[in-house]
Amino acid sequence: MGMSLTPEEISRYSRHIRLPQVGLPGQEKLATARVLIIGLGGLGSPASLYLAAAGLGTLGLADFDVVEPHNLQRQILHGDTDSGRKKLDSGIESLRAINPKIELIRHPEGITVDNAVDLISQYDLVLDGSDNFPTRYLVNDAAFFAGKPLVYGSIFQFEGQVSIFEPCAGGPCYRCLFPQMPEPGTVPNCEEAGVFGALCGVVGSNQAMESIKRLINVGESLMGRLLVIDSLAQRHRTLKLKPDPQCPLCGHTPSITDIRPENYEWSCAAPDTTSEEIPMEISVQEAHAQLQQAPPPLFLDVREDFEVAIAKIDGAIEIPLGELPLRWEALDAKAPLLVYCHHGMRSLRATEFLRSKGLDGAVSIRGGIDAWSREINPELARY
Ligand SMILES: [Zn+2]
Repeated sequence: MGMSLTPEEISRYSRHIRLPQVGLPGQEKLATARVLIIGLGGLGSPASLYLAAAGLGTLGLADFDVVEPHNLQRQILHGDTDSGRKKLDSGIESLRAINPKIELIRHPEGITVDNAVDLISQYDLVLDGSDNFPTRYLVNDAAFFAGKPLVYGSIFQFEGQVSIFEPCAGGPCYRCLFPQMPEPGTVPNCEEAGVFGALCGVVGSNQAMESIKRLINVGESLMGRLLVIDSLAQRHRTLKLKPDPQCPLCGHTPSITDIRPENYEWSCAAPDTTSEEIPMEISVQEAHAQLQQAPPPLFLDVREDFEVAIAKIDGAIEIPLGELPLRWEALDAKAPLLVYCHHGMRSLRATEFLRSKGLDGAVSIRGGIDAWSREINPELARY
């Protein structure tokens, strides 16, 4: 039951309506659609601006945060004079200026373990613009329980990822890729890692595109595919993703059957490691010593091809981090495994992932090839 658009609206959205794949029926669908946006930061800014401009009927905005000066480098909903204001307030002002006709609903408490499923249930689709693991896992799980499509986007330094997770339509969820949250302290957050500002525009706009396509059911969605954008090399790849029958959320025998606060706790304390446990990371000296042993441990390079072309440590199997969810099964699960990347961040993430798949011998090399070139082999090119 489409609601009819006024002549003024037909004129306003005419450049969409003229696209045969959208047309008047598509625009009418958008006018009644409800999208929940989690976070009005780097990804939520461009996503909400484009969805507002496109005439989405209702945008729910979940954010509890306040604008800080260092946000302005990428969070284009907010301007210079907005520092100290609630992102909801400055964001709504910007969105109203773009399109006063659409309905904007404030969720000032943000998404929480208490409200997540209920909040997402009120919308047709949820767009995740969060920048931290507990929220990302919470949104994934709550979208699954609410049976709603999740448009996922994330950024790490110069790399962006986009996908649609919709297990109830036969696609995978985020936990099919990364079953468990990484241990606190093993992955850097945005503040530590840095964010390439304009890449947020690319990823957030892709999330807006995928949302609109999904809402009016046109084109090929990213369900079952992960778009990986490497902005440094300017390479875009799409990796096939399959639902994991072992997934703790959407698999055949799920261990996560409701939203429990303990599943989304994240403290900054270092993870417990007893003496029997294999450490998550070791120094380059220790790694070098282990590689001299017979038999040497398996050796895995999770950097991108262009980085391998610059410099590499001989003897490593090359699987870029983004391809690991598809290719890890080729690795010997029982063998000790040393993982390296450029600076030791991606290799830690890879190690987390491999251990979640039962490769308990996986260990990350701290400082990556950069530390290796400083401390073991100065001949290696640094980049
Ligand atoms: Zn899953």
